[in-house]
Amino acid sequence: MNTSEVKRNILLNPGPGTTTDTVKYAQVVPDICPREREFGDLMEEIGRDLVRVVHGDPSEYASVLFCGSGTINIDACVSSLVPQDRKILIVSNGVYSKRAAEACMAYGIEYMTLDLPTTCPADPSLIQNALEAHPEVAVVYSCHHETVSGILNPMREIGVLAHQYGAIHVVDTTSTYAMIPIDVNTDQVDVLMASAQKGLMAMTGLSFVIGKTSLFEQSRNYPVRSFYTNIYMQYSSMKKKKEMRFTPPVQTVYALRQALIEYWREGEAPKWDRHQRVWRAICEGVDVLGFRTPIQREDQSRLVLSIDYPKDPHWDFTQIHDYCFERGFTIYPGNISGNPAFRLCAYGAIDEADIHEFFRVFKAALDHFGVSVPVH
Ligand SMILES: *Cc1c(COP(=O)(O)O)cnc(C)c1O
Repeated sequence: MNTSEVKRNILLNPGPGTTTDTVKYAQVVPDICPREREFGDLMEEIGRDLVRVVHGDPSEYASVLFCGSGTINIDACVSSLVPQDRKILIVSNGVYSKRAAEACMAYGIEYMTLDLPTTCPADPSLIQNALEAHPEVAVVYSCHHETVSGILNPMREIGVLAHQYGAIHVVDTTSTYAMIPIDVNTDQVDVLMASAQKGLMAMTGLSFVIGKTSLFEQSRNYPVRSFYTNIYMQYSSMKKKKEMRFTPPVQTVYALRQALIEYWREGEAPKWDRHQRVWRAICEGVDVLGFRTPIQREDQSRLVLSIDYPKDPHWDFTQIHDYCFERGFTIYPGNISGNPAFRLCAYGAIDEADIHEFFRVFKAALDHFGVSVPVH
C-alpha cells in the first residue's frame, strides 16, 4: 500500500492528534461482521490491553467500550455508578468536570459540586471537608487533567480521600491516559475513562471506561438512567459474548489495535518523555516570541499550553490559524477565565522537530500580518 499519499498534518489542538500512517491504514481491512468470533476475540484482546496500560490486574479490572466520543464515558459513569439515594461529589475546576455535573442534571441524579478555582489544581483539604460534611456521597468524581487550562489535579490524593470516606474514585483521564503514566493501584482509581483518539493516537469514535469488575457487578442493582450508556449492560454483554450490545465502529477498532501495538513498542516512559519534550519545545517557542501564559507552569500537565492573545491591533486568531492550517499546522482557541487565549498541545505522533517547524511557520504568520514580535 502506498502510504506516502496521505499528507501529514501536525495537530496542536487538544485531540484528536496526529496519527501514524500505519494506524491510518490499519483501518483498511476485509469487511467483517462484528458478531464474528474473530472480531469478538479482537475486542477481548483490546479490552485486556487497555487495562494493562494503567497497570490494572485483569482479574480485577475490565474495560467497557462504547461507540462515541469521550463524553459518552462521562455520560456512562454518572448515569451508571451512583446508587439510589446516594450522591456523587464532583470536584469541579474546569470545563470537563463541569460537563459531568451537566450530565447529572440532565439525568436528575443527586449530585453536589465542589466549585474550585479553574486556574490551579484542586485543594485536597477542601475535598476532605466536603466528604466530612456529606456522608451520603458514594462517588467522588474528578477530572485528572482539565484540558482547557492544562491544570493537572492530584489524582492520587483524591483517591486516598475517597476511599478514606468509603466512596469510590471515578476519574476522567481522557487527556492523560497513555501519556502520563497512570497506575490504578497506587493512584487508587476505581474507574477511569479515555478515548482512542487521545493518548493512544488512534481514531475517533471509540471510547472506554476501565474499572473494577466488582463495582460493575454491584451496579447491576442501581437505577438504569440511560439505556444506551449503561455500564453494567455493556459490561455483561462484553463478558458473556465478547460483543458490544450494538454495532461497534469496526474499522476504528482495528486502528486501535495497531495503535496499541505501537504504544507497547514505544513504551510508557519513553512516550511520556517524548510528550514532555514536545511540550518544552512549545514553551520555548512561545517564550521566545514573548507570549504570556496565564497558568503556572508547575501546575500543568505538560501536555497543553494556554497562551493569552497578544494586545496587538494586527493580531487576529482566525487569520493566524488559517495561515498555519494551510501549511499543515492546526492551532486551537480556548478561553481562560474569560480572557481570550489559544492552545498548543503536545499530543499525537509528533516530536520536537515538528514544533520547531511549526514555530517557523507561526513566526512567518505573525510577520505576514504585521504582529510585532516580541508580542506584548
Ligand atoms: C477530550 C476530552 C473529553 C471528551 O471530549 P469529546 O469531545 O466528547 O471527545 C472528556 N474529558 C476530557 C478531560 C477531555 O480532554
